[in-house]
Amino acid sequence: MLKLENVCCGYGQREVLKSLSIKVGVSEIVTIIGANGAGKTTTLMTISGLLKVRSGKIIFSSREINNRPPQRIVEQGIIQVPEGRHIFPYLTVLENLQMGAFLQKDTKAIEQDLTYVFSLFPILSERRKQAGGTLSGGEQQMLAIARGLMAHPKLLLLDEPSLGLAPKFVDLIFEVILKINHEGTPILLVEQNAQRALSIASRGYVIELGKVVLEGAASDLLQNQLVKQAYLGN
Ligand code: ATP
Repeated sequence: MLKLENVCCGYGQREVLKSLSIKVGVSEIVTIIGANGAGKTTTLMTISGLLKVRSGKIIFSSREINNRPPQRIVEQGIIQVPEGRHIFPYLTVLENLQMGAFLQKDTKAIEQDLTYVFSLFPILSERRKQAGGTLSGGEQQMLAIARGLMAHPKLLLLDEPSLGLAPKFVDLIFEVILKINHEGTPILLVEQNAQRALSIASRGYVIELGKVVLEGAASDLLQNQLVKQAYLGN
């Protein structure tokens, strides 16, 4: 479904991704793990068209999407839920969700989508009239994911969805990620919580300094000595 082939990109003079190659299949959760500054967020931003590909190719559903404007990439169904949520704090929960549905013109379909995201996150239904900025961190993360789902992703890019959350919210977020995937959406998941990410993913990539240094079945990576020492703390 998504393939990055030898992608290089960076900021100004600085090259961050150095010939990075990864892929995500139609029914997969694929995780990217790596230390701070390895280039995980940069990878997602490049896929979303927010950073220019300097060389290499990004192919989505058999079409090259290199350097298409971000709005075209969203229209094709690649939806990124950014690190730090970036919800609209002064809009209500409902308005935040409606913003996610900006490509959808059919109000009935929007209602159905709202029913679906409220079934995943019932707390958002209870808080639908509350300003987004008044929600807890965990609830804001739910809102950010729900807003992404309102855009009907064909591929969902999740950047650090568990960052800074209390354990009960981490459990819930991972449960929902798995459910979204089982219902048919492939997911590329960037996570510091390598243990949890690898336990729900089918495959994973370890990146260091903008390069893939290890890849494989998530179950194998969980047993890998380097991964255990560097990312699983054992
Ligand atoms: P983290 O988990 O800390 O977010 P990451 O793996 O997602 O790490 P990136 O955010 O992709 O890493 O950053 C990769 C490198 O690019 C880092 O060295 C970072 O300092 C640099 N970088 C990120 N954003 C910019 C920017 N806007 N301008 C210049 N350099 C940047």
